[in-house]
Amino acid sequence: MTILVDGTAYLLETNTERVVLGYYYRRKAIQERYDSLYGVDSGIKGRAMRKLKEREKRNDIKWKIANIIVRAARERQYAIVLERLGRNPANGMIKRIGDKQLRHRIYQASFRGIQRAIEEKAREYGVPIAYVNPKNTSRLCPIHNAPIVYNNSSRIGKCSAGGELWHRDVAAVWNLLLRAHQGDVGNAQSLVGLP
Ligand SMILES: [Zn+2]
Repeated sequence: MTILVDGTAYLLETNTERVVLGYYYRRKAIQERYDSLYGVDSGIKGRAMRKLKEREKRNDIKWKIANIIVRAARERQYAIVLERLGRNPANGMIKRIGDKQLRHRIYQASFRGIQRAIEEKAREYGVPIAYVNPKNTSRLCPIHNAPIVYNNSSRIGKCSAGGELWHRDVAAVWNLLLRAHQGDVGNAQSLVGLP
């Protein structure tokens, strides 16, 4: 998760994949243990699963991220610009994982979940949100408007005009901000008149 605040881009290591994988396997382990001990429909299993769910929610990384972002915006009286997610926002990430159920869970838990948490917190604090089309935002240099060339699957690329290096997420957040200022903003909110 990358955040741009006052000219500095922060790359938050969310470990969504690891968190969600951990959740999946713990859940599965509990299910199997109780199924073999007490049978498939035991109430004891239900209680253990509910407990796990509550604990997971408390430690949920997405609420931590949402708090950081919404607080930063609120303190400065800023709006939040988010990338508008397509139909399958997590496709790139989940391609590598074979298990269908697991893929579904990761898909659900990741990007949309973080955005929803941000939306909910933002509503709570009255922070406006604008959505911007993220197409090509990591491919163009925000300074030279020229293509950034990435070698292999590197996340660091080189601007084809200026030769400077860009982390793809850093280029993306700058371009999202520029687009928001240009009025390329979807949904009901507009940034016109907002700082
Ligand atoms: Zn450049």
